[in-house]
Amino acid sequence: MKIENVKIYELEIPFTKYVGDNSGVSRGFPIQRQVFDSCIIKISTDNGLVGWGSAFAYECRRSVAECIRHMIVPKIIGKNPLHVKQINFDLQKQLHLFGRYGITLFGISAVDLALWDLVGKYYNKSVAEVIGKKHNKSLEGYSSLYRYGDKDQVYEMVKKSIEEGYNHIKLHEITEDEVKASRLAAGNDISIMLDTNCPWSKDEALIMAKKLSEYNLLWLEEPINPPEDFDSLSDIRHQTGIPIASGENACTYYQFKHMIEKEAIDYAQPSVTKVGGVTEFLKIISLCEEENVKLMPHSPYFCPGFLATLHLSQCTKNLSLIERFYVKPEAYLYPETIFDPKSCLFMPPEGIGLGIDPDLDVIKTYKVN
Ligand SMILES: [Mg+2]
Repeated sequence: MKIENVKIYELEIPFTKYVGDNSGVSRGFPIQRQVFDSCIIKISTDNGLVGWGSAFAYECRRSVAECIRHMIVPKIIGKNPLHVKQINFDLQKQLHLFGRYGITLFGISAVDLALWDLVGKYYNKSVAEVIGKKHNKSLEGYSSLYRYGDKDQVYEMVKKSIEEGYNHIKLHEITEDEVKASRLAAGNDISIMLDTNCPWSKDEALIMAKKLSEYNLLWLEEPINPPEDFDSLSDIRHQTGIPIASGENACTYYQFKHMIEKEAIDYAQPSVTKVGGVTEFLKIISLCEEENVKLMPHSPYFCPGFLATLHLSQCTKNLSLIERFYVKPEAYLYPETIFDPKSCLFMPPEGIGLGIDPDLDVIKTYKVN
């Protein structure tokens, strides 16, 4: 079996965040427009199989697509998809000078996902089965809220998440008022997590972490800039006692190893569309099991990467929650029930490979390139 063709689809799918204005301005949150940028790839083989993958593409869709097209595709045509781990290794080696974090690794992640989809299809098994499934349990989701920057909207959305059955809710806020509003809305029996997306210096983070300690956060996520300052992250963790989550801005096994050696985190958050795909994620699963660090994957997306995360979740007992982005896309690449189950319990779709292929009509409708 040989890779014969790689097709790249760039999509823009509008979404609503349920509350507030939908004017396209989101109060400083990194996603400035009300659309999901997606970069989906389809790898075809000479024996007629097709595998699907996706790269992280929010705000970098065109760049990552060009990276895949020009830097990666020429290096994988003619290769055997069953050698996915070797292909991943070779790509990382050949492209290392273009960055061990960011666009290049996002592109390699997309290829890796599509190749694992192909491996599963070739052996007539699910991705979970070919990578070492250990259990068959559904996974509890947590509601990952948008950044509203408004305490009333936070209150409303926390209430809405609880009404839908979520017991764990993550905010993306950076001021105390919104955190306080979330705790008022949630009471004491619902977990609140706070993802700040790297806004503070170490000193600022220490002050904020102490202020926030009264709200009993399950974790504080990425409080400092730059995110790879693991010494400072470790200081915040040890000086405040607040559990720290980080990792969506880390790439490859090596950065997680470094982070854990520094005792910087309680929760490791690899993102399968950024970190180097399923291949790299599996190494991080082993690392976290060995070091007794909890896994809490980053997965606020609706692409093949979300399905891959569900498959990976079945390969370790060290992963208890899955992130579900609490917004409503105008269209879904897969049946909506995968992302929005009434029970808030998530399972990979049954079937070979990732379980289901993307809806070609949705791709056709929202394709921009
Ligand atoms: Mg995050």
